[in-house]
This record gives sequence, structure tokens and C-alpha cells, in this order.
Amino acid sequence: MSVMWNCWHGCTKLSAGCLNCYMYRRDAMYGKDSTVAAKTSAFRLPLRRNRQGQYKVPSGELVYTCFTSDFFLEEADEWRKEAWEMIRLRSDLTFFIITKRPDRFYVSLPKDWGDGYDNVCISCTCESQYTADLRLPIFLELPIKHKSITHEPMLQKINIRKYLREYGSQIESVSCGGESGPDARPCDYAWVLDTMLQCVEYNVSFFFHQTGANFIRAGRLYHIERKDQHLQAAKAGIDFTRAV
Ligand code: SF4
Repeated sequence: MSVMWNCWHGCTKLSAGCLNCYMYRRDAMYGKDSTVAAKTSAFRLPLRRNRQGQYKVPSGELVYTCFTSDFFLEEADEWRKEAWEMIRLRSDLTFFIITKRPDRFYVSLPKDWGDGYDNVCISCTCESQYTADLRLPIFLELPIKHKSITHEPMLQKINIRKYLREYGSQIESVSCGGESGPDARPCDYAWVLDTMLQCVEYNVSFFFHQTGANFIRAGRLYHIERKDQHLQAAKAGIDFTRAV
């Protein structure tokens, strides 16, 4: 089972992958300024209890964290201290965090972090070769117990061999996905396949997450409805589990 914990909302666009940010599109529909970050009403969700005094988020859940912002956003430096404290107190939950800002990891990090909390998984998003070469050398040196890489929205073929070669044993998985929305940039299946082959070569688990709205296969462009994007990716049958 999984739970969504959106601790703060609002973000600043950072790189090409942010161009058609889902959160900006949603806010635009309500005339809201997406660049203003604020804590949400769900901020204290991990510690909320029901009338019986039990945690509302039961033990063992996977908690997807901060999905309309970036956990390491500068404006959230103070809030992140409280968020880390909740994550520490709920060591019975697993928190999954995706970021484009690994360079800000150390800001507001808890003193007892050590080589990482067991219950925190962090994935670094790299949508292009440029952002992979910018973020991965930083990310892969960070003290995090569970690390993964996300290429989403994948905008081009990305060669991460040198990172898989050097850090493969600590990268738990690599996942690829296309872009959704009316202005989605296309994702080419050949790029996804190429990443899968890199992962097989270095024995790192690979996951094709979703196709995106505009998907190219064998040179032909397909428009894929939102509801079918995960299913079509699964149908490709190219996920790979690391051999132990
Ligand atoms: S980092 Fe994520 S939430 Fe922030 S603008 Fe970019 S895509 Fe949107």
C-alpha cells in the first residue's frame, strides 16, 4: 500500500524537465501562483492520529513525499527540518522522495543522519544528458541508503554507463518515463531501450514507468491517453530485476 504526503506546494522551475510541470498546469487552472511555496494542510500527516490514538498512516506504508514541489527547495529549508523529524519518528514507514536538487541535500539535514535513515529512498531526476552529468556526480556521492535514478520526462537518449559502472551497486533502480499533458514532448522507445540495456549491462534494476502522451516507436509517433500510459509501458515487458 502507498500514501501520498504532499508536505509543501509550489516550486521554481530549474531545468528543461520543468517546462511543462504538472503542478504549474494545475495551478494555472485556478489562477494560482506556482512559484510561491507554502506548507500544505497535510504537513503533519505522518504524525496524525485517529480517535483511538493510532497513527492515521498505518505502519508499513510506502509514503510518496512532496509531489507538487521539490523536497530540497530553498524556500522549504526551515520546513524540511520538521519534515525530517517526522520521517525520523515514523521509522515504521518508508518515505520516497524525488528531487532535481541533490546539490541542496545537506541543507537542514538532521544531525543524526549519519550514512542515511533506513526508511528514506531518494531518486534523482535527470531528464537529459546535461542534467545527468550535472546531478549524478553529486547525488551518487551523498550518504543515502536507498538511491535510484529517474529519467522523467525523458527528453533524449542518456548515457549513464560511467555512473552505473562506478556506483551500480548502490543504485537500486533506474526508471524511464515520458511526459504527459497537452504540450508533452515526445519520448522515443529507442531511448528507453537503450537505458534498459545499460542497466542489464551493469546489473541494475530497470523500470519502464510510463510512455508519456506522445510516444515514438520505430519512427512512428503515437498519442497515448493518460489512462493507458502506465499500461502501455508495462506491456512492453522490458523491466529488469537485478540478479543477486
Ligand atoms: S522541480 Fe518538479 S515541481 Fe519543481 S518546477 Fe520542476 S517539475 Fe515542477
